[in-house]
Amino acid sequence: MIDLDGKVALVTGASRGIGRAIAAQLAQLGADIAINYLENAEAAEATAQLVAGSGRGYALCRADVTNRDEVKGMVEEVLKELGRLDILVNNAGIISDQFLAFMKPEQWDQVIATSLTGAFNCAQAAVRPMMKQRWGRIVNIASAAGLMGDVRRTNYAAAKGGLIAFSKALAREVVGQGIMVNAVAPGVIETDLISDMPDKQRAQMCQLIPAGRFGKPEEVAPLVAFLCSEHAAYITGQVFSVDGGLRM
Ligand code: NDP
Repeated sequence: MIDLDGKVALVTGASRGIGRAIAAQLAQLGADIAINYLENAEAAEATAQLVAGSGRGYALCRADVTNRDEVKGMVEEVLKELGRLDILVNNAGIISDQFLAFMKPEQWDQVIATSLTGAFNCAQAAVRPMMKQRWGRIVNIASAAGLMGDVRRTNYAAAKGGLIAFSKALAREVVGQGIMVNAVAPGVIETDLISDMPDKQRAQMCQLIPAGRFGKPEEVAPLVAFLCSEHAAYITGQVFSVDGGLRM
């Protein structure tokens, strides 16, 4: 039912984890994909192979989302290589956990810069071509932490909470131009991001999740795809949880 044929999507942080699953899902549904990554060129190439396997075009875009000039250059490259830009998924994110009392200012700055300022940089560059064509979709990957808070994650919760508020404000601003902006808030998803979580903490976390397990990146991607599609033409400024019932 979801048809993204003819659309071009830029997915940030698409080399691994949730971003790779989103890129693969959007390609399966017909979109050409701009695959953004920071350092991991080999992993980004593996995502590109998934996209190519669906018969779709792609561009590999190395850019640091925290760097405004690199983001501007990346969007210009997407327009040049893939011809248009219809969908932006702001997915790139990092954690740098510490109790507030011991958190270094750099830990705060890096996490805010990636998840929040990075989304601002990408949205600002991407919204212009979307406004011109009077059609666009922006999906911001937030987190349950942005809705509920999380211990040792004041930086991350603030970035993701800010991203949710950013989504709502931008949604109000651009709805008249046919651009829908929504946020998706995953719970705990099996990716590199949480790979060093100790077994004891994993077991405790699973007990808090009604579904009794962590999610998979492929369980986040279909909702994102729906929000990127024509079906979401009357949905904007919303936050959707994909968390096995964590925040019920
Ligand atoms: P991963 O650590 O598996 O992947 C992170 C991705 O972001 C990589 O592709 C990485 O690129 C890219 N990246 C990091 N920093 C930058 C940057 N400055 N510029 C461009 N790209 C960057 O993370 P997940 O897949 O787990 O997370 C994806 C998103 O989902 C994040 O926003 C995260 O906060 C959110 N999320 C994750 C949850 C989870 O439990 N996993 C739960 C809730 C939300 P490279 O490979 O080149 O390093």
